[in-house]
Amino acid sequence: MAAPSHISYDNPYENTMNMTFIRKLPIPRDVKQEFPVPDELRAVRKRNIEQVEGVLSGRSDKFLLIIGPCSADREDSVLEYLRRLRIVQDQVADRVVIVPRIYTNKPRTTGDGYKGMLHQPDPTGRPDVFHGILSIRELHMRALTETGFSCADEMLYPEQHRYVDDLLGYVAIGARSVENQEHRLTASGLDVPVGMKNPTSGDFSVMLNAITAAQHSHTFIYRNWEVKSEGNPFAHAILRGYVNKHGQSLPNYHYEDLIRLIRMYGEKDVQNRAAIIDTNHANSGKQYLEQVRIAKEVMAQRKINPDIRSIVKGFITESYLEDGCQKPEEAHIFGKSITDPCLGWEKTERLIYDIAELT
Ligand code: PEP
Ligand code: MN
Repeated sequence: MAAPSHISYDNPYENTMNMTFIRKLPIPRDVKQEFPVPDELRAVRKRNIEQVEGVLSGRSDKFLLIIGPCSADREDSVLEYLRRLRIVQDQVADRVVIVPRIYTNKPRTTGDGYKGMLHQPDPTGRPDVFHGILSIRELHMRALTETGFSCADEMLYPEQHRYVDDLLGYVAIGARSVENQEHRLTASGLDVPVGMKNPTSGDFSVMLNAITAAQHSHTFIYRNWEVKSEGNPFAHAILRGYVNKHGQSLPNYHYEDLIRLIRMYGEKDVQNRAAIIDTNHANSGKQYLEQVRIAKEVMAQRKINPDIRSIVKGFITESYLEDGCQKPEEAHIFGKSITDPCLGWEKTERLIYDIAELT
């Protein structure tokens, strides 16, 4: 069929679909060639991932702690946080495996607000994705080089994941993405453990279906390629609480929730059954100080019930240098979250030592 004469197919910059095509971006391979991961850091990352896999498989009885700010808003404060975390990690290394959160993409409930460093490398400035790509690679690279941590990030946009995939030690699929086919299929082709959150509705079966999908091999389209994934045997559950039909946040880390999860997990044909408890979000109702109590309650349940002990392998905790949060447009306090409220440094440090005691 002949193309309608008024449409030009050879102008790649034509604005269509009600979008302005601002500029062509470098592909991940080009960015990686420009900023490669040195061999010795690849080896560090591999060892870090093996530690996490050891916990998730049950080979190691250490406890996993994925911890850090809700969003990585600034390089300097995130690196300062990681330097402090490194000191604590070395102290508790026989009991706790720490993976810092460097979340460079933020899902927004209404679509508005700070979308993370990829879109806005300067949180008070305009969106600038070109510099955002370089900023997130630099931050993950500096984290690995200067602190030895290969960090956790959320894979909010699967197609953009390859800008940093070779630096990460853990990937989360968020509550708003976990039912999405593209996220599930891409997760099946990642070489790091992937945590599948329960959806905001709280339905465990959505999360367990996502884990099943991610653990299996698939053939699909990824970045203009036909690809075949191997399946990710370390895809696992993250319980983050849920929102009911009245818009109220409700927790799902209690004894009954965990027993239900164990039963439902047992009916699925998956490996390395594991659950991480998110201590903030709908579990705390974003009452961030409650994270300490929630963590201690879950540790107590692990002591009481061996089935719970064998499935609950860790926490995701939102923590930064300062308590609470501030608005992005007036972000003046160094190390204070500009998205969800976080536990400040002193309380964080105490909590990590307490968790190490309670494992
Ligand atoms: C987060 O971890 O900051 C986050 C946005 O989580 P969720 O997808 O559970 O809302
Ligand atoms: Mn958050």
